[in-house]
Amino acid sequence: MICYKDKHTTIFHSSLYQTTSTVVETDHFMLVVDPCWLPGEVEEIRHYVYSRKGERPLYLLFTHSDYDHIIGYNAFPDAITIGSKGMERNLEKDSILEQIRDFDDSYYIKRNYEIAYPQISYLVSEDGQNLQIGEYCFTFYVANGHTNDGLFTVIEPLGLWIAGDYLSDIEFPYIYSSSIDYEKTLETAEAILNRHSIKLLIPGHGSVTTEIDEITKRINESRKYIHNTRQLLLEKKEVEAFQILKHYDFPKVMEKFLRGNLELMKKELKLENE
Ligand SMILES: [Zn+2]
Repeated sequence: MICYKDKHTTIFHSSLYQTTSTVVETDHFMLVVDPCWLPGEVEEIRHYVYSRKGERPLYLLFTHSDYDHIIGYNAFPDAITIGSKGMERNLEKDSILEQIRDFDDSYYIKRNYEIAYPQISYLVSEDGQNLQIGEYCFTFYVANGHTNDGLFTVIEPLGLWIAGDYLSDIEFPYIYSSSIDYEKTLETAEAILNRHSIKLLIPGHGSVTTEIDEITKRINESRKYIHNTRQLLLEKKEVEAFQILKHYDFPKVMEKFLRGNLELMKKELKLENE
């Protein structure tokens, strides 16, 4: 499953939706991010972590509450969990768990751990909040728009940026909560590039990148997508919004997400009843 590895960082790629699970190890801690999806995949990550962990504390970070990202929570029962206040306050906890049950049921999947919604031990409640572990500094930024409970995490001096479901090279923005918030998050992304020395961007789905130009390109493409879509809706040219599917490898499933974006943005623009 390993798709990227350097001295401190190992990234696993699930067979499903090219979802990334990240493991970071330093002298002071081990960190797992969004371990997922299939039981064998979660087990591979679990085994990797516990065979190396030793006495180091284990942190488990959730980038947001989408069910694919929290599905492996209880495979790491001793971990110190990190997540946003939005995740703790999420009113959809039951339906998120139901999505995991539906998924497992659909494919006759059994797991050797209980499915549960994460209990967060370290809560991120402020934009720009810091967590210092030894010589390493985590900075968390609110990243809403995809969902209402997303986080960007920057780990210095490693220059790691864990982005959750933003800045993917294989998807256009999937907007579940707000396109306005999504644009704010893209501004935050730009600020991160100015403020931190980023060496590796890890999106929730797709390919990591070490190139600043590539990160800038992803930020600009996301921004352009939202702007163009909004414009097309205002000009009553909804059909043209589907053109973008041509540029992606999985247009069939992505059409569903595109329709979701259009519905949400129409509501935001109060166009639904026209
Ligand atoms: Zn997501």
